[in-house]
Amino acid sequence: MENYIVSARKYRPSTFASVVGQKALTATLRNSISKNRLAHAYLFCGSRGVGKTSCARIFAKTINCRHRNADGEACNECDSCREFNKGASLNIVELDAASNNGIDDMKNIIDQVQVPPVNADYRVFIIDEVHMLSNAAFNAFLKTLEEPPSYVVFILATTEKHKVLPTILSRCQIYDFNRITIQDMVDHLSYVATQEGIIAEPAALNVIARKADGAMRDALSIFDQVAASSMGNVTYASAIDNLNILDYEYYNRLIEAFLTGNIVDALLIYKEIREKGFDSLFFINGLAQHLRDLMVAGNPKTMCLLEASDQTREALAKVAAKCQPTFIYNAISLCNKADLDYRTASNKQLLVELTLIKLCQLLSPSPHESGAGKGQLRPIKPSAQAPQATTTATTAPQPIASDQQATYGNRQATPQQPTPAASPDRNNNMPTAPAMPRPTVAMPRGKMPVIGGIPGFSITNPKGNTQSSDNAAATPQTSAQQRSEKFTDEEFAEAWQQIIDSHPTEQLLTNAMRNARPRRHNEYHFIATVESEAIEGSIISNLGMLLGELRNRLKNDMVQLSIELNKGQATATSLTDSEFYSVLRKKCPYLNTMIQDMHITLI
Ligand SMILES: [Zn+2]
Repeated sequence: MENYIVSARKYRPSTFASVVGQKALTATLRNSISKNRLAHAYLFCGSRGVGKTSCARIFAKTINCRHRNADGEACNECDSCREFNKGASLNIVELDAASNNGIDDMKNIIDQVQVPPVNADYRVFIIDEVHMLSNAAFNAFLKTLEEPPSYVVFILATTEKHKVLPTILSRCQIYDFNRITIQDMVDHLSYVATQEGIIAEPAALNVIARKADGAMRDALSIFDQVAASSMGNVTYASAIDNLNILDYEYYNRLIEAFLTGNIVDALLIYKEIREKGFDSLFFINGLAQHLRDLMVAGNPKTMCLLEASDQTREALAKVAAKCQPTFIYNAISLCNKADLDYRTASNKQLLVELTLIKLCQLLSPSPHESGAGKGQLRPIKPSAQAPQATTTATTAPQPIASDQQATYGNRQATPQQPTPAASPDRNNNMPTAPAMPRPTVAMPRGKMPVIGGIPGFSITNPKGNTQSSDNAAATPQTSAQQRSEKFTDEEFAEAWQQIIDSHPTEQLLTNAMRNARPRRHNEYHFIATVESEAIEGSIISNLGMLLGELRNRLKNDMVQLSIELNKGQATATSLTDSEFYSVLRKKCPYLNTMIQDMHITLI
């Protein structure tokens, strides 16, 4: 281990081409050198570990190189280059202004500026963290910076450009360094691993790169640490273990709990995370970040915003496919609120637990939201999502969503003729499944139908519904093949339940259906009241299938279904967290048992 050199030093770039993640900037610097258009002062800005000092040193070496190659890079072989590489060159002077920021340090630099270069064309002065210079030092420096001897080049570096005086900024050529992307870091770490004969999983390198937060130097230090403790075999498991990073599997399990409304699971997972020693604020922020990743992974167009390995992208996309965008937006918003409230909360654990409970209830109504709040009838929105294919005979033979969109696009009712397949069954009161009329969303002609006092749309069968008094769009004509058996509220509820039972794998829909409360509006028209837009969305996106199954099970083609969004009473939404929690405990006695079982202390 005598000759061990940390990777951050060993793999410090020695040419512009080997600087990671700053291609455009290094190309500009190289061009200005090869065209001999040097400024006398440069300002390199960017966060720590992005290569500012490395670039400054390469720049100093390159402008003094005797045999620059065709690409404008230093040869690394001439005397000057060798001295630079050994760190023994007299033509480069570095000052760390973070620790040497006084007037005397600056006077020392100004004195050195007067000494001409030795066996070279330029003397380069690198002043790191230049924003830390005291005012007196700044003022002493200004004159020299403005009119330095012709052989002097100043390279100032700063992590906080806004703190640099305008008088300095105006005298420098400014270069802004990018944060290094995760992918660039992973590529470089992978190169270092190969050079060192270390086996490293891409997922592990990704974790290291994320932890380094845009700083290559940190990434290399972390890599050394993980490689040392995992005996040269850097796996995903060893990386998260070493770096005390919360595995995204925890977040995925939580998302599953949110989607199924499983409060118990969510609270227990949080307990598990706490017991592993993770800070609650770190956890909430991690959860928000994970939700954000799911949000961008849910759409191929935004997938490029995801800085992750292909493996992680694939895994995220799978989870994202289960989540409605509305659910993710609301969930991020709840996490964000918890983050803001965290610092002022006296019981931080309770705050996080409340947030988790609310997250679990995003797709199911919470008790405090139910009640006799005046419902708001919402127009049924056409869904871009095609109904899920099922193998039951009750499924309509053609995609329904496109019909709905077409109807909306034309903004007119589309009374349909029976499909040709129905003709042979014209006299049959029990048509075969493919002949079942396709449900469409009909826009009213002339007068808007009014349901619940608010103008809205309703769903009607293609031939219209003579019994429906409020359906102005319907054609008063009943086809011989339309079924119109009478049914009771109980039979409707039974059919509703049967549909829930027959789709055990479609948890989003069945969960939404369980929470919707369909009630009879008139003879065949039912209104399902839902408590959130997410539930509304789940039902609407499956409306074609749902209506088809209802009509089939009830043997009645005139059944109509409207969705009504009930946002609850205005006062209910203004409850504080603790008020909400006490209402919740009263309404769900099992919460008390759970709190006792889990030894949670409440304030
Ligand atoms: Zn050289």
